[in-house]
Amino acid sequence: MNVPPFSLSDQLRELGEDLDQAVLAVLRSGQYIGGPVVLGFEDAFAAACGVPHAIGCNSGTDALTLALRALGVGPGDEVITSAFSFFATAEAISAVGATPVFVDVDPASYLIDLERIEAAITPATRVLLPVHLFGQPVNMERIGEIASRHGLKVVEDCAQATGASWAGRPVGSWGDLGCFSFFPTKNLGGAGDGGAVVCHDPRLAQAVRELAVHGMPRRYLHTSLGYNSRLDAMQAAVLSVKLPHLPRWIERRRGIASRYLRQLHALPGLGLPGAGPAGHSWNQFVVRIPICPTGRVACTALAPCIASADSAAFALPEAACRDWLQRQLQDAGVNTIIYYPIPIHRQPAYAHLGYGPGSLPVTERLCSEVLSLPIFPELTEMQQQRVVDVLIRVLGTSFAAAVPA
Ligand SMILES: *Cc1c(COP(=O)(O)O)cnc(C)c1O
Repeated sequence: MNVPPFSLSDQLRELGEDLDQAVLAVLRSGQYIGGPVVLGFEDAFAAACGVPHAIGCNSGTDALTLALRALGVGPGDEVITSAFSFFATAEAISAVGATPVFVDVDPASYLIDLERIEAAITPATRVLLPVHLFGQPVNMERIGEIASRHGLKVVEDCAQATGASWAGRPVGSWGDLGCFSFFPTKNLGGAGDGGAVVCHDPRLAQAVRELAVHGMPRRYLHTSLGYNSRLDAMQAAVLSVKLPHLPRWIERRRGIASRYLRQLHALPGLGLPGAGPAGHSWNQFVVRIPICPTGRVACTALAPCIASADSAAFALPEAACRDWLQRQLQDAGVNTIIYYPIPIHRQPAYAHLGYGPGSLPVTERLCSEVLSLPIFPELTEMQQQRVVDVLIRVLGTSFAAAVPA
């Protein structure tokens, strides 16, 4: 049995007729940019997020860039975020000319460490940019408190958390602006690229709308230098058909996550994610590879170095055990993904920021330990059982063999 890490075609099959009709209708209408289908999706998406305004755009990356631009963030400004995220989070900050300032993450939630934010605030700080990583919402009440104490704006990176909520309120509705991605593997995915910015403030909404269309408040009048970043009608049609199903799909993700948590909890040493708050939308189920009893980062019980206890074996790169486990799973037909092997602050593109090794120890450690198990709404119970069985076989036996009692 082969278990994929995600599946894009299952939803097409499930919604077949409806999707075909919606896409064909756009194709035949000749209205490919803007128009009623795009506006209709924006309204429906705003309602789903509990806000009055949603503006479709080209991608989640653009959503972040447009949101920061709408707030007037630019050169000389600092934006606080985490380095345990997809690269685009920071890239958008740099794209507007501002500087990303990385705060380490909390080892239990993998989310920005709320206790460390205030120490990173300087006179140049303008925005807090929390990332609802893997679908788990950041504590937005705490973010809001810190932001108002220091006069900062809040932009939420909701790219992985469409359908998630904090304290009963959807993510994206807490900050000044919320940024979403409809990349195909996200909780609500299109048939291509897409994104949206949501907000309460009509002036910010208008600013985003204008920036997304060449800084053009009305036809051929350009009051600022913007972009061409629109959600096209074909994507809006696909997303409109999918949106009503999102709550059910999120429930399926939650069911799968709680089954994993139940079935894997007794596996010695495997680091499981916390159950998280009720509003967790489980875009990813991310485990950590056992902490080695010798105190090393990755577990030597797993790696090919098991047999030899000589010092050379301990020179393996830190992620060797995780990577070894990933290969074992793959050989058994269980396909996993590593989100993310290199933290943003250690990427070559950010060498100039000067974050050396060890500067964000929790983030760096997570990047060498994490592994995302298959999770998507259509994952069958049999497929999930397969993942669990293989994990128990591989981990259970090697751990039992190598860990001293
Ligand atoms: C996917 C993602 C983005 C970027 O979204 P795109 O639509 O791919 O541009 C930004 N931030 C995070 C956390 C993401 O996962």
